[in-house]
Amino acid sequence: MRDIVQLTFHGGVREIGGNKILLEDRNAHLWLDMGQSFSFGKDFFVDPYLNARHRFGLRDYFALDLMPKIRGLYSEDALAPTDFPYDDPRFSGIAISHIHFDHINHLRFVDPHIAVFLGEGTRIMLDSWMTTSQRSMDLGEHAWKTFRTGRSIGVDGLEIEPIHVDHSAPAAYGFLVHTSKGTIAYTGDLRRHGPHAQMTDDFVAAAKEAKPIALVTEGTRVAPEERRQQFTEAQVREEAPKVVNAAKGKLVLLTFYPRDVDRIKTFHSVAQETGRQFVLSAKTAHLLWSMKRDTRIAVPDVERDPNILVYFRQLAKEESWEKDFKAKVASRAVDATYVNRHQGELMLQLDFYQLPELVDLKPAPGSPFIHSKSEPFDEEDVEAAVRDNWLKWFQLEHVQLHASGHCSLAEMKDLVRSINPKAVIPVHTEHPDLFTSFGPPVLQPEPRGTLSV
Ligand SMILES: [Zn+2]
Repeated sequence: MRDIVQLTFHGGVREIGGNKILLEDRNAHLWLDMGQSFSFGKDFFVDPYLNARHRFGLRDYFALDLMPKIRGLYSEDALAPTDFPYDDPRFSGIAISHIHFDHINHLRFVDPHIAVFLGEGTRIMLDSWMTTSQRSMDLGEHAWKTFRTGRSIGVDGLEIEPIHVDHSAPAAYGFLVHTSKGTIAYTGDLRRHGPHAQMTDDFVAAAKEAKPIALVTEGTRVAPEERRQQFTEAQVREEAPKVVNAAKGKLVLLTFYPRDVDRIKTFHSVAQETGRQFVLSAKTAHLLWSMKRDTRIAVPDVERDPNILVYFRQLAKEESWEKDFKAKVASRAVDATYVNRHQGELMLQLDFYQLPELVDLKPAPGSPFIHSKSEPFDEEDVEAAVRDNWLKWFQLEHVQLHASGHCSLAEMKDLVRSINPKAVIPVHTEHPDLFTSFGPPVLQPEPRGTLSV
C-alpha cells in the first residue's frame, strides 16, 4: 500500500480533450473521465476509409501504441483478439464529468463490470445518443451508477463529491475527491459566462472550502491570444433575432453542437420572438424528448410545443428508432418539401453531416447560415473548407454566433486564484505553461506520466 496519492495522465496532456486520469490512493484506483483525444489515431487512420479494424478490438491500437496496456481495465471482447491477457477488473470506478466525446469515448473498450459514475442527465442523453447513432456511438454495456449534485459516492476509501458546473452540455460536473491526504479538485469542463454561471460558482466555493492539495483543471481557452469571437450566451440570444429579422422570406439555417441544450433553448426563444417555428433534426428532437425524464433540466416539449417541428430526411430505409419516433411526433413531422415551401416561417437545424439536404431544401439565395459552434482552430480545417463550399454553392450567408463552453483566460485565472489550491495541474489545454502566472504553484503532467500530490 502506498502512502501517497498519485495521478497518472493517460490523456489530456498538452492537448484539448482526451481526459483520462487515474487517481490512486491506498486501495482506491479511480479514473477521472475516459475520453478520446481529438487527434486520436490521426497519424495512422483517415476516417471513414482507413480505420482501425474494429473486429480486432484493441489489437491495432496496442500495436501502434495508441492505447496503453493496462491490466484489469479493458473488456474481454476488446482484448480477445490481442495478445494481452484479460484480468478481472482492478479499478474502483470511472467518474464521468460530462457527456462530451473527449471525456467518454474510450468507455467503449472498458470492462463492463467496472462501475461508471455519471450524472442522471448524462445517462439519459447517452441513451438517446446511442439509440439515434447506433453503430457510430456504441459504448457498450456498463455498470452505470448515476449521481446528482450534493450526493457523495464512497468507493474504496475515497469520497467523490460531484458538484454541478456550467458547460456547453447539461448535467456537467466537477468533482471533489476526498483522499487520505486531502482533497483533489477536478473541474471537468466549465465556464463562467453561461446561463448557469451560479453552478460553476457553487463548484468554486466548495473547492475553495475544501482547501485542495491539488486542482486538476481544464484550460481550453488559456492561450497567448484570443482571436475568436467572445460572446456570452446572452449575447447570442441578443444578436440572433437581428439576423433572423433581416432574412424576410428566407430560410434561417442553424448549426450547433447537438447536445448543447442551452443553445437549443436560446434559438427556441429566438424563434418565438421572431414568429418562426424551430425545425429540429430528428436526433436532436429525440434527445429533448428523452430528457423529459430528467425533470431537473427544463427542455421544450417536442410533442406539444407549437413552435417546434421535427425534420425527417428522405431515407431509402428508415432505422427503427426513426420510424418509432416519427409516429410519436407525427403532428410535428416535416420534410424538405414542407421546409422549402415555408422558408420565411422557419429556422432549421442543419448539421455538418446533413449538408446534402440543401439539395432538397433549396433555400433562397442569401439565406443566413448561422454557425453556432466554435470557429476552426486552424486555417487548414478540412470540415470548415467543405462547409464553406456548400455555403458558396447555395449562396448562403455565413454568420458566426457562438458562446464558448469554456472559461476565458481571465475567468480561469480568477477561478484558480479563488480556489487557491496547494498545486495546480493543467490538463485539456495546449498552453499549460501559462498557468504559472496565475499564482499557485503548478505541477506539469507528462503524457502517461505520474505525479505525486
Ligand atoms: Zn466538454
